[in-house]
Amino acid sequence: MKNTLQDPRKSPVMFAGHGSPMNAIGDNIARAGWIDLGKQLKKPEAIVAVSAHWLTHGRKVRTAADNPQINDMYGFPEELYQIHYEPAGSPELARKALELLGDGAEGDNTWGIDHGVWSVLSNMFPDADVPVVMVSVDADASPEEQYAVGQKLAALRDEGAMIFASGNVVHNLRMVDWDNAGGFDWADAFDGLIKGRLSTGDRHGVTGYSAFPDSRLAVPTTEHFFPLLTALGAAEDQDTIAVFNEYRELGSMSMTSYLFF
Ligand code: ZN
Repeated sequence: MKNTLQDPRKSPVMFAGHGSPMNAIGDNIARAGWIDLGKQLKKPEAIVAVSAHWLTHGRKVRTAADNPQINDMYGFPEELYQIHYEPAGSPELARKALELLGDGAEGDNTWGIDHGVWSVLSNMFPDADVPVVMVSVDADASPEEQYAVGQKLAALRDEGAMIFASGNVVHNLRMVDWDNAGGFDWADAFDGLIKGRLSTGDRHGVTGYSAFPDSRLAVPTTEHFFPLLTALGAAEDQDTIAVFNEYRELGSMSMTSYLFF
């Protein structure tokens, strides 16, 4: 049976480490990886995007037909603000997502497409021709519940929708070291531990990350890590796993990203 990026067994699940908004422009490893993956992938019919930057009480789904761009970053060079990326929404796909998510999830059109999403997708699909349905991260939900959300949304993979989750495996802004091109030892170790779990097929085991060494340094706040759990819930044992953009930067940031297809 063929199973390639151009002929996947199902629409893929992607977890993207997005890091600094500056990764959206210029020469950097992350951006090169996103451009390359966008060229290799069969273009999905739609994208369900779970973003670390839409943090809510309760689970929200944007149901509108549009996606206003949210420039939720401050003090960056003007050229970053020149990016305009506003793919359409999909009220129909949003309705299906809400049905699958069930009680506790509701439509909410107060947010749009934030930099965690547009920095990546504007490089993968620069024509903005793939509709995007934004899904929030419920700040109050447990790791198990973040995973379960992925399991619920997984059915949309059969309908041509890519499940796209954007965050960072390691994300500690307080510890950012602008002079460090790589990662602190603890960041490398935590990132490697997650990758190790995934390479042995233990996707669900990652929900127990808080017991891993240095988890408090790697995941001091949960919003960038939780999208990974939702992506893992949407993946399946039969999926092929591709690891890309595997590196740490600024000491306390992991860019490591995963594709399940
Ligand atoms: Zn972020």
